[in-house]
Amino acid sequence: RQTSSETSLKSEPKDEIGFKGHDMLAPFTAGWQSSDVHPLVIQRSEGSYVYDINGKKYLDALAGLWSTALGGNEPRLVQAATEQLKTLPFYHSFWNRTTRPSLDLAKEILDIFTARKMGKVFFTNSGSEANDSQVKLVWYYNNALGRPDKKKFIARNKSYHGSTLISASLSGLPALHQKFDLPAPFVLHTDCPHYWRFHLPGETEEEFSTRLANNLENLILKEGPETIAAFIAEPVMGAGGIQSVVKKYDILFIADEVICAFGRLGTMFGCDKYNIKPDLVSIAKALSSAYMPIGAILVSPEISEVIHSQSNKLGSFAHGFTYSGHPVACAVALEGKGHPREGPERLPRFQDGLKAFSDSPIIGEIRGTGLILGTEFTDNKSPTDLFPPEWEAGDAGSSLGDNIMMSPPLIISPGEIDELICIYGDALKFTEKKVNELKAK
Ligand code: PMP
Repeated sequence: RQTSSETSLKSEPKDEIGFKGHDMLAPFTAGWQSSDVHPLVIQRSEGSYVYDINGKKYLDALAGLWSTALGGNEPRLVQAATEQLKTLPFYHSFWNRTTRPSLDLAKEILDIFTARKMGKVFFTNSGSEANDSQVKLVWYYNNALGRPDKKKFIARNKSYHGSTLISASLSGLPALHQKFDLPAPFVLHTDCPHYWRFHLPGETEEEFSTRLANNLENLILKEGPETIAAFIAEPVMGAGGIQSVVKKYDILFIADEVICAFGRLGTMFGCDKYNIKPDLVSIAKALSSAYMPIGAILVSPEISEVIHSQSNKLGSFAHGFTYSGHPVACAVALEGKGHPREGPERLPRFQDGLKAFSDSPIIGEIRGTGLILGTEFTDNKSPTDLFPPEWEAGDAGSSLGDNIMMSPPLIISPGEIDELICIYGDALKFTEKKVNELKAK
């Protein structure tokens, strides 16, 4: 068929002479892939679709990288960028200078974050930079409070918080650490709250959450609460019981909303959905629908106040990037943060339509909420019976190993959701057949 999910990735090389590798050191790509396999080269996008250099159409089931919330060609965003480029393509925000779009965007972000009142916004260019900046901010804050030992961070196994030195350290993925001399020693990791994969035999979901909260508390006590500065987690990965533990030991809660913010879960923020009252929040991606690189940190009034008075003493808050609050990125973000504007019925259509495939013998678990969903392929419905990696069971989708990830643009229409479900069903049939053939060998 012409349309396939973003997923079946091999586009035919346009050049007849054959592919001899390219010049990019490509992110999250194996060396052999970039030298031996022609990359999928995307040329154009429209709504929920992207098109490759040969004109082949793909339903972009991952919205770029969980990011193009408003789809591929939202004219309002293009116009906002164009107008800002014509008026003021760049000015910085150092030394108490700034631009109107940065001021307006900071105010608007504070207005729409209602899970609790926040005090200030600090702009970055990405989610990684936001999480990196969180660590510096928290250290600065604790130094100001005269608590120089309260510097460690707790994050979760299997989490992703970015790929700079610090954000990769916070991430709980071995691949991000191996050969990079990471994680940094001030980062500790605690359990991944994935019930299906990690619960003990006979353990209910509630007992599982309680056990994880207890494990977190034991880790804090073992290290000494006076050494733990903050806990960071994605709201969608479940925060049950965690908030009260960190609060008890005066540990800050950082919500990494880089994926959840602006409607992905069906609420404006993940913190709204799960009733989280964070001290600090990281956002990026849907903030500008990825049309321009921009991220930000929301800082609680209490922390803002301490940073403010500390930087009065020191003369300046010496942290920031040339492009912090870039006027073009801010103008685009002001024009359209990716909130769910209409059609909440699309969310169950997406969830129920895809979860209907749960009975497939090669699917261990399908999980998700809002417009985010993951499929984990395992044998015998068991979290431990993995397929051999060389079978590439997840290969028919945008996958990490045998997990297929989906996070379509928030503007996806009901018809496009049906198309997505249909493509998924085809890919699943294809994979079932492949797995059966490999098993028979
Ligand atoms: N945090 C989360 C939860 C993310 O999903 C990502 C990116 N996928 C990041 C941080 C890092 O963001 P960026 O790639 O913009 O640096």
